[in-house]
Amino acid sequence: MKDTWDGRIQRAEQLAVERIESNELLKFHGALLSVQRDIYEYLRTRKNWLPSGEIELDLQILLPMLPNLLRAVEAIGPELIASQATALLQASDNELGQTMIDYWKAPSDTQFFAKAFLQPYTIWLRETGSNPPVRNLGGGENRCPFCCSKPQVSVLQIKETSSESGGRDLVCALCLWAWPFRRVVCANCFEENPANIGYYRASEFDYVRVEACDTCGHYIKGVDLTRFGLAIPVIDEVAAAPLDLWARERGYTKIEMNLVGL
Ligand SMILES: [Zn+2]
Ligand SMILES: [Zn+2]
Repeated sequence: MKDTWDGRIQRAEQLAVERIESNELLKFHGALLSVQRDIYEYLRTRKNWLPSGEIELDLQILLPMLPNLLRAVEAIGPELIASQATALLQASDNELGQTMIDYWKAPSDTQFFAKAFLQPYTIWLRETGSNPPVRNLGGGENRCPFCCSKPQVSVLQIKETSSESGGRDLVCALCLWAWPFRRVVCANCFEENPANIGYYRASEFDYVRVEACDTCGHYIKGVDLTRFGLAIPVIDEVAAAPLDLWARERGYTKIEMNLVGL
């Protein structure tokens, strides 16, 4: 399965069947991906228009699609965000636009609607070969080289022998771009002393691990494609939800929560 919208949706559906313990999360995630794919297709097939990367400008085209996302989440989402969707459906275009601009300028993984809505836009922006948007978010090599977002998941794979990262990539939480990142380094605080970085696996997810840093108390999950090449990291990361509970119980904070809030 490819890491395309359809590939991600199929993988979520497949895992929803295989992983009973994460079934609800994966069903919701799959439905959310379908709405995001529609937003992406709406942007991609729009005649005589390409995104500029200036959020205020692009929102004029983008914002009419937001009610689709809100209505879908109202219908299928967990109770708390379903009721937030209902409230947002009453908001004015100005208020909704401002919510998107606020996220763009100061993103947080608790801003579910803005992250879910701007994800297909940012992916399309990147795919059109646009210059990276100016977001002034700071950060360094642990931030996406395109959109400056934090990483959602870490990926291990076999690469050319010259690869400096030792085959480790970080995947952007917003535009899903993957960039190389040194293998035994904390993706939050850059700790590189192996004694302070721990790896934890559960037997039922032998290709997914928690990569936790005792220096800053943060973690990210890593998907090892050398152990299971059919995984789609951003989806399999969601399926391995029990590992997030495990990490939280031990006091670790995730670098960036995923769209289902784990
Ligand atoms: Zn990005
Ligand atoms: Zn750290």
